[in-house]
Amino acid sequence: MVAPRRILIVGDGTGGLSIANKLAFRIPREFADITVIGNSPKHYYKPAGTAISYGSLDYSRFTKNARFLLSSHISYIRGEVTGVNKAEKNVLTRDGKRYYYDYLVLAPGARFAPEAVPGFEGEAKHFYDLNHSVELSRHIQALEEGNLVIGSPSGPIQCPPAPFEFALLADEYLRNKGVRDKVNITFFFPGKGVFGIPVVSEFVQKLFEDRGIEFRSEFTPKSISQKNKEINSVSGDLIKYSLLVMPPPHMGQKFIEKSGFKGDNGFVEVDPRTLQYRENPEIYVIGDAAQFNGIMVPKSGTAAAFQGGIVAESISSEIGGLSFNREYDGEAICQVYNGRRQGFSIRIQNGKATLGKEAELDFHLKKTGADTYFSSIVRGMM
Ligand SMILES: Cc1cc2nc3c(=O)[nH]c(=O)nc-3n(C[C@H](O)[C@H](O)[C@H](O)COP(=O)(O)OP(=O)(O)OC[C@H]3O[C@@H](n4cnc5c(N)ncnc54)[C@H](O)[C@@H]3O)c2cc1C
Repeated sequence: MVAPRRILIVGDGTGGLSIANKLAFRIPREFADITVIGNSPKHYYKPAGTAISYGSLDYSRFTKNARFLLSSHISYIRGEVTGVNKAEKNVLTRDGKRYYYDYLVLAPGARFAPEAVPGFEGEAKHFYDLNHSVELSRHIQALEEGNLVIGSPSGPIQCPPAPFEFALLADEYLRNKGVRDKVNITFFFPGKGVFGIPVVSEFVQKLFEDRGIEFRSEFTPKSISQKNKEINSVSGDLIKYSLLVMPPPHMGQKFIEKSGFKGDNGFVEVDPRTLQYRENPEIYVIGDAAQFNGIMVPKSGTAAAFQGGIVAESISSEIGGLSFNREYDGEAICQVYNGRRQGFSIRIQNGKATLGKEAELDFHLKKTGADTYFSSIVRGMM
């Protein structure tokens, strides 16, 4: 009898949990030992960040134990990976243990790098994790007048539409509260327009014009002056704020850089079709940790789940002695609130974007997204 293959997954987020469940579903137990190593205290559904900031504080709907989300025969190790030894095919954790693998799937996501914008820490607010979303909700509730400034940092971030969605919801929230005429909303974006995809940018600009949201294009944040309450751009412009909302810049995890993977800022450059690390094809990288050169793939949970599907099929086919030739087509889907109790979708595939019409259905799909996520996406059923 052949020894079971060791499949090691680093990361207990969207990508790591969903691929582990997909593998467990596809490969009979006796053929593979599947292990997930992750350091997340609880698994949190991040798209809830905007809703929590605007007062939806029932966190239990948005967090679950990672163990509870994994099939029972997957081993789950709570630990922090500090390095990958590619030559000896093992992974080191902070407590000094080594875990050997035949297949390694890296899904450790991205890390926040507030230090990239001096003055950010303690001043800019955001909704990119649970604690910051709760903190931001207090500032939003207290906001009665002044300048609400919302924007995107330079470089890749998770769910790139989230900052403009936040601005559309700000308009709705302040109108409902009766103080919209006393609060200016300004949105800034590092590139041309208000978003990196022209068709989406033009559409959102029209929404902004309709709602009286001002926007500043080609504004790349450089630093924040906490004393003067102003954010400065690399080209010397500034915007004054009363409340500044901006996600921190993102980078890859430090252990990735330390382990000598190729890629920029701690992200790992992968084969965009197979998700393999080219120099070590037994290593796959999915989700926010992956860098795709030559094709646009936004950092999103749907992309992580779709990529996990391809990798799970690839590994399980190889273990089962079957041929496999399906390739990842760069698919990612994002549903966005429009701030008028409707939503719209942005779908990316093969580097092309399709913008859906505004519809009430998308509002409800987005609102109930956590239920679909916990019941099927992260459990590997989609
Ligand atoms: C506000 C917001 C809104 C969003 N909205 C959407 C949306 O509408 N649609 C959509 O598709 N996506 C959305 N996303 C993006 C989506 O949440 C992420 O892209 C997705 O979580 C990426 O999955 P991942 O597995 O790559 O990383 P993550 O889900 O971040 O998981 C990484 C995991 O690895 C663990 N980890 C990290 N380093 C180590 C280490 N050294 N050792 C062990 N474990 C480690 C972490 O604890 C974490 O559990 C949103 C994100 C945010 C912040």
